[in-house]
Amino acid sequence: MTELCEVALPVPLRSTFTYAARENTTPAAGPGMRVVVPFRNRALVGVVLASAHGAAEREGVREISEVLDAEPALTPAMIELGRWVASYYLAPVGEVFRAMLPPVVEVRAVQELSRTAAGTEYLRELEALEERTGDERAEAAVLQAFSGEPGTKRAAPLRRISGGEPAIGRLLRRGALEARVVARRRTRAAVEFDPDAPAEWAPDAPRHELNSEQQRALDAVRADMAAKEFRVNLLHGVTGSGKTEVYLGAIESALAARRTALVLVPEIALTLALSRLLEARLGREAGVTVLHSALPDAERSAAWWAVRRGAARVVVGTRSAVFAPLERLGLIVVDEEQEASYKQEETPKYNGRDAALVRAKLEGAVVVLGSATPSLESYQNARRGKYRLLELPTRVAQRPLARVELVDLREDFRQTHSTRALSERLRAAIAERLAAGTQALILINRRGYSWFQLCRSCGAAVQCKNCSISLTYHKGRGRLLCHYCAYSRPVPQACPKCSERYMYFVGEGAEQVEEQLRAEFPQARIARLDRDSVRTQQKYREILTGFAAGELDLLVGTQMLAKGHDFHRVTLVGVVSADLALGLPDFRAAERTFQLLTQVAGRAGRGELHGDVLIQTHYPEHYAIQYGARQDYHAFFEREAQFRRAMHYPPFAALANVIVRDRNLENAAKWARQLAGMLGPEEERGLKVLGPAAAPLARLRGEHRFQFLIKSPRRTLLTQALTRALDACAEKGIPEGAVLADVDPIGLM
Ligand code: ADP
Ligand code: ZN
Repeated sequence: MTELCEVALPVPLRSTFTYAARENTTPAAGPGMRVVVPFRNRALVGVVLASAHGAAEREGVREISEVLDAEPALTPAMIELGRWVASYYLAPVGEVFRAMLPPVVEVRAVQELSRTAAGTEYLRELEALEERTGDERAEAAVLQAFSGEPGTKRAAPLRRISGGEPAIGRLLRRGALEARVVARRRTRAAVEFDPDAPAEWAPDAPRHELNSEQQRALDAVRADMAAKEFRVNLLHGVTGSGKTEVYLGAIESALAARRTALVLVPEIALTLALSRLLEARLGREAGVTVLHSALPDAERSAAWWAVRRGAARVVVGTRSAVFAPLERLGLIVVDEEQEASYKQEETPKYNGRDAALVRAKLEGAVVVLGSATPSLESYQNARRGKYRLLELPTRVAQRPLARVELVDLREDFRQTHSTRALSERLRAAIAERLAAGTQALILINRRGYSWFQLCRSCGAAVQCKNCSISLTYHKGRGRLLCHYCAYSRPVPQACPKCSERYMYFVGEGAEQVEEQLRAEFPQARIARLDRDSVRTQQKYREILTGFAAGELDLLVGTQMLAKGHDFHRVTLVGVVSADLALGLPDFRAAERTFQLLTQVAGRAGRGELHGDVLIQTHYPEHYAIQYGARQDYHAFFEREAQFRRAMHYPPFAALANVIVRDRNLENAAKWARQLAGMLGPEEERGLKVLGPAAAPLARLRGEHRFQFLIKSPRRTLLTQALTRALDACAEKGIPEGAVLADVDPIGLM
């Protein structure tokens, strides 16, 4: 009998694998430890989920090559959480655990080559030749390298032989060489995490006397923590109501009770300011640690292990930080809980907020979900009494909410006959702010210069070659760009379809709005904040600090602007178009629009100065825009809930979006038909199955895509149906990567 381990490996399969633990090795492999194992002809790092006695010989299982951790990287609770994520989201279990673990910096993959019998034979042939070509000389040199000592050689030095790289490729193809990848321990010392390293600057962190609403909310959360029981609070506070102060108080209580706290924010950019604030308030001892996916591997690994060893008691991070290895977890805060960025769009497609709820339940922690515009899901849970609703209905210090005015673009056009992005009204308002020496934010929720390039002659837009989508014009780069696959091409002078030379550009993006602002207000100091202008954290910080310090007058940008920032001299927020999201084929279109308008309106008037918001729109009568302008969440919820209930959408049904995809159209169509056959019987159990239909993005990154929307009155029915369908697909030989399930989708594109 030996120890058999269930190992999760980072491969796109929904199963785990069994390996035998070598006897009498230290450390011994146990649940939660990372191991190196042979997989096909590779070496992979996986994690042990469970172990049991068994007979390895009989079952023919392979051995674990190396145990990386002396102590488990994952606690039993985290293993359980990972299993939940995998089964709820129907995600490959090994990829879930890879997302939970720190980047592997202890070992690196090395390719090794060995010469086969056929290779020895071929070398003899080559050596017998009177004259050899350059290719043959390189091949001989590579094969000769194996002549002295038998066995395997590292590929890297052989590639450096002149002509070696292509020669190795040819030799592998003809079977003269064999390759495998093995894991080798790194000798270089790992980066040490130093919790005492001096912070760049300690912010002044004034402690505010809580107002009565804040105090009531904090008391409720404290009472939950004292009860040491899982409980979810939805903190619904209007923008500027001081939610952060409630989070801080709750975190202090968690630490005072010798427990730890986890704070999730929707954007990497927001981690820095919050971690500094926490550090200033809680002191060094709290070991406030930032975790997010953009940290360099070595740093992220060091921070992760510092948390694991208990040196850090407060973690601030984005989505993936929900897996931060804190123990004795007392509190999880999810700020802006409705944000789409909590949902990972790549496999595993989990929602960090929902994983946080499950984690808190497993560990007996208290959750605070904070938002000015809660998701319909969370608010409905609060109404049903599943969550406790805590409301902060007014801004701190009796500051009024900003005054919001809708600018009807149809009316503006009738009067000015101008199609410029900025209406007369918005231009005048900006000019006023510049004259008064206060600041303005201009939101344009589209990157690039123009939405697309169109041919006047045949009407076709220039399309991506990999995706069924028009390319966006980026003037700064002088190219057309695909926002889905990053394909780019020069701007054509003639139509690629009909060759006529009547090309023109349609629609304004952030780049163009910035250009118009500069032309209109040459004396103003202007910066742009979007993914094109801000490619590094450093640049992002520069712009925001510059704006906060009053070195800029106007900041134009995408929704990056709308989130979280607390600028005190902003007296105007302009929204260039409120309508962009409304046109998308997505049941969340109205909710997104409402959230964005409320968030952005929340950026004005946060200091002593009063703020105005101007929202340009072609549909001022749309309810999302009307209620957004009034910042009336409750009215919006009622109206939107009617629509969701009638159409069987979340939160009144469980929803999954299933995509069947392949580079070959016939394959994709065939598999979609097969899947339809498997899902059909589920309708008798109460599910609604819509599809297969061509997906809204019928082609993406060169793959053809069919879509199913599956709605279920109950969660368990949905999970069971999907599990059955995916298992049946695997049995039919449909490749696992061809059928993608997105449970609780955030978008349907
Ligand atoms: P929210 O996240 O709800 O939009 P913040 O937490 O960013 O609001 O708080 C808005 C501003 O109010 C911040 O500048 C904060 O320092 C300040 N603030 C918070 N609580 C109080 C209070 N009780 N009295 C005065 N100012 C406060
Ligand atoms: Zn593309």
